[in-house]
Amino acid sequence: MADTAKDPGEPRLDGRTVLAVFAHPDDESLACGGTLARLADAGVRVVLLCASRGEAGSISDPTLVPDGDLGAVRTRELTAAAAILGVRDVLVLDHPDGDLRWDDVPELHADIVGAIQHYRPDAVVTFDADGLYWHLDHVGVHERTLTAVRSFGIAAPPLYFVTMLKGMMREIMKAAHAKGGATPDSGLWGITPDAFGDSAKPPTLAIDVRRWVPRKLAALRCHQTQMGGRDHPMAWIDEDDARRWLGVEYFRRADVGGDAAIVLEHLGERYATRDA
Ligand SMILES: [Zn+2]
Repeated sequence: MADTAKDPGEPRLDGRTVLAVFAHPDDESLACGGTLARLADAGVRVVLLCASRGEAGSISDPTLVPDGDLGAVRTRELTAAAAILGVRDVLVLDHPDGDLRWDDVPELHADIVGAIQHYRPDAVVTFDADGLYWHLDHVGVHERTLTAVRSFGIAAPPLYFVTMLKGMMREIMKAAHAKGGATPDSGLWGITPDAFGDSAKPPTLAIDVRRWVPRKLAALRCHQTQMGGRDHPMAWIDEDDARRWLGVEYFRRADVGGDAAIVLEHLGERYATRDA
């Protein structure tokens, strides 16, 4: 486990608050679990707002959901993952999984506005407009979070969109396959690995989370109903694979708010796409 007290090179961010807004239990770990853990270790109060209970998701093993209440099981999985990442506050809302882009639009907007008013975050993190792989719930949460943050005008906290590099998930699939696991085109909830990051805008910030990868992987594996299937690559990759392919997390700062101070930049480095 990373221990910032023993690492004078690691910046301290005590007293700061970061609000992460995602759609389903597991998004937080997959999108930026390493950054959330690193922020928590740096003294940041990390608050996670999850728009749905994930009740419409897949089930890797029916015995994990004996009473059929997937939303309740996924909420428990999220609580376990959040504890590993050091997320202090977990707010699970009950907006309809699968319809987050169209249903409860004013309600979800109001929930995010309310969380910003209550926690007064120094930064907000959510999906970019591509929703990682055009998942419409993720796109909806991006839209609601953007409008909610924007409604604060020049007082808006800095907003960061988490993004993935194209090709990364394909490499994770290959690594899992090399271990005897997931076949190259299976296991990602029916999504081709090439969809991840395919249409993402280039990131502007890269955060090195290699030291936090064991916790990111452990948090991902708390989401057993989602990642526990024999075909799921996260069940097969080892820590070296994870460090290699999940060890840097990428963000793009949104052009909203006034002259707000930097937050995530304390941990990351400016990132420019090499072939841009
Ligand atoms: Zn999701």
